[in-house]
Amino acid sequence: MRDFEGELAQRKTAGLYRTRRQISGPQRPALTSDGRSLLSFCSNDYLGLANNPANIDALRDALPETGLGGAASHLICGHHDAHHELEQRLASFTGRSSALFFSTGYMANMGVISALAGRGDTIFSDRLNHASIIDGCILSRARVRRYPHGDVGELEAMLAQTSGHKLVVTDGVFSMDGDVAPLKELARVCREHDALLVVDDAHGIGVLGPEGRGSIAAQGLSEADVPVLIGTLGKAVGTSGAFVAGSPVLMDYLVQKARTYIYTTAMPPAIAVATRASIDLIEKDDERRQHLQALVDRFRTEACALGYQLMPSQTPIQPIMVGDNWTALELSHALEERGLLVTAIRPPTVPEGEARLRVTFSAAHSQSDLDRLLQALAECRHLLAKQDVAV
Ligand code: PMP
Repeated sequence: MRDFEGELAQRKTAGLYRTRRQISGPQRPALTSDGRSLLSFCSNDYLGLANNPANIDALRDALPETGLGGAASHLICGHHDAHHELEQRLASFTGRSSALFFSTGYMANMGVISALAGRGDTIFSDRLNHASIIDGCILSRARVRRYPHGDVGELEAMLAQTSGHKLVVTDGVFSMDGDVAPLKELARVCREHDALLVVDDAHGIGVLGPEGRGSIAAQGLSEADVPVLIGTLGKAVGTSGAFVAGSPVLMDYLVQKARTYIYTTAMPPAIAVATRASIDLIEKDDERRQHLQALVDRFRTEACALGYQLMPSQTPIQPIMVGDNWTALELSHALEERGLLVTAIRPPTVPEGEARLRVTFSAAHSQSDLDRLLQALAECRHLLAKQDVAV
């Protein structure tokens, strides 16, 4: 039998052991954990909608109409009016002809990639793509070629050498670096080499582009450039689930073939109702996005002035690069002693030697929340004095 205890001990020695923090009460910047109040800079609730009263009301009002459980998969008897209406709303929001509602982003990526590529096909995947994309690629049994992060030239060379069906997949906003994929260039090479482009915009939907339509719209692109858009609903949208949007033929194909859509219980329909309310709000409410961007801009200026090394990201994902696993943990603990929650991210989530603190901002943060973070970072700056960051 495998030595599970030994492997766990090894993880601890390497500073790679993962723990879960238990929180009480709703998700918001001021969290309660173990009876202690902490100011969080690590959730993906970018617009502060996870605890939005109007969306909570929409959920409560929907429950008597829809009941609670999804009760069956979509293809048996679980597909509810509320799911259908959300799909139509997601299609109109993203400027696409149709959409399909999945239970999680992880399942959407696994299901979509493995349905659209198979044995004998080739998938080209950005080296920094999310774990769920990597797993979708493995599940597909297609040949997988990883291209250097954001390197369209290298991707183009790889595409030119490959025959057969080709699929290119990328995050829209990279979850650990916060930078945005060069979608215009990716769309061009995909067009020229007859490859299907799939973009997972988990961190762009709601945050970037006009009316929060995401990183594809932000770069002036549409369904003609990026035929397959995947978005998640548990981040800026503040509820739960995910969707894929594209042509009706593609959605029809996915209903037939995406195993993570077919063989799972439909989401509680009331969640779909609350999600629709949240999308309505996202479309209208530019103020949240403007406030969020102002926080990001100020953080970048002032954290750089303190001598911290940031990534070239303009999004609410603002990693502070550290390098070594133990130093990342030490900085995270020092911030926690000052009442701030900022998680250390270590390999394998990020490459070896690139441990970091992943700071994320939410429209629910105030300028005085940011004052507290910057003050604590100023006090902890000496912890990184000896650090040589590998990137
Ligand atoms: N894609 C990306 C880029 C992500 O960051 C995540 C979640 N962290 C997912 C997909 C998975 O989404 P979900 O949490 O809805 O499963």
